[in-house]
Amino acid sequence: MQTDSPRRPGLSTESAGLALNGGKPVRDSWLPYGHQVISEDDVAAVVKTLKSDWLTQGPAIKAFEQAVADYVGVKHAVAVSSGTAALHAAYFAACIGENDEIITSPITFAATSNAAVYQGARPVFADVSPENGLIDLESVKKRITPRTRAVVGIDFAGQPCDYDGIAEICKTNRLIFILDSAHSLGAFYKGKPACAQADMSILSFHPVKSITTGEGGMILTNSDEYHEKLLIFRTHGIEKRPDKLTVNEGPWYHEMQELGFNYRMCDLQAALGTSQMKSLNEFVARRREIADLYRQKLDGCPDYYCVEELEGRLSSYHLFPILVKGDPANYAEARKFVFEALHAENIGVQVHYIPTYKFPYYKKLLGRDWAPDCPGAEEFYSREIGLPMFASMTEKDVDDVVAALKKIGKCL
Ligand SMILES: *Cc1c(COP(=O)(O)O)cnc(C)c1O
Repeated sequence: MQTDSPRRPGLSTESAGLALNGGKPVRDSWLPYGHQVISEDDVAAVVKTLKSDWLTQGPAIKAFEQAVADYVGVKHAVAVSSGTAALHAAYFAACIGENDEIITSPITFAATSNAAVYQGARPVFADVSPENGLIDLESVKKRITPRTRAVVGIDFAGQPCDYDGIAEICKTNRLIFILDSAHSLGAFYKGKPACAQADMSILSFHPVKSITTGEGGMILTNSDEYHEKLLIFRTHGIEKRPDKLTVNEGPWYHEMQELGFNYRMCDLQAALGTSQMKSLNEFVARRREIADLYRQKLDGCPDYYCVEELEGRLSSYHLFPILVKGDPANYAEARKFVFEALHAENIGVQVHYIPTYKFPYYKKLLGRDWAPDCPGAEEFYSREIGLPMFASMTEKDVDDVVAALKKIGKCL
């Protein structure tokens, strides 16, 4: 950074205009980085369910599961209370437990690896591409040991990871392919809907995701065996179907066959989800338009690099990540400055993500392996900023973000 950085003596006229330094912000009101879009139809769907006989595990759950399974093109969908519960259920169904390892990316929300830890398994962090934050397959291969049970891919920012490459590694090494597709409902991989290509994929319906149910999640699979396990895990491990019981003492009889949880989604949430599914294509199309606008308006800008969409992938643009440019030795400092300056301009940005292994909990858990060799993740983390991205953003909002970025870029 140059000596006219606002945190150093001698403000330039440009840096003096930054809201960070008391100048007028680009926007008067805060622009959040993500926001849900709820229609009157969504409200009506929830109210209708509220007045029905079922508030939980009624017909709305099956309808929602069917709507998502049909859209993605998978045989089974199991709705649960959150994306985190979906991950936990997937690890359970895959029989991942103590002494097992899963290989995953550190550039994700902590839940991806946390849920494996719930099962007593050990997460092993592979590196990512410093250009796009997607898991690096060469690094995955290097982390495979006799204890490895699964590779967990992440569709970072809504861009599908290399499904074919991961599937190939899993096939060769007899591993399970689990996909954290919390970002990518509505994305496409080689012309087909994303989230269908793994042994199990999980979704999240948190308000910032492609569609929302308030809180909620889902597991998608083509496997009948996984499906059965997911169903009983969601409801305490209890089996009620007569043909599945080990003994049957009468019509009241059921068995708790596994240690499950109450991970049920309620019908109000499912009704909202089914209604939101009707807008999914429109939401993703709008997110893609916003991404195009960002790319056009930032084209040629010397200070920022927009993460590219790879060949054969159509991102659902859960996020729009940019990377600061310049001297790599200054990435972290430049990113911090841009982040703080954007917040002062009333632009809500986020950093996605702090590499999971850096958290104190993981340092403790992983012991001397706490700092895995992940130079790509370190670099990506040091440069990344997620710009505001949601379906109801206007072109004016995009212009404000771009104006703020350019204003701040001049002071880098
Ligand atoms: C949101 C998210 C989750 C967790 O989903 P919740 O519904 O919030 O529990 C898991 N993984 C990733 C990558 C996410 O973005």
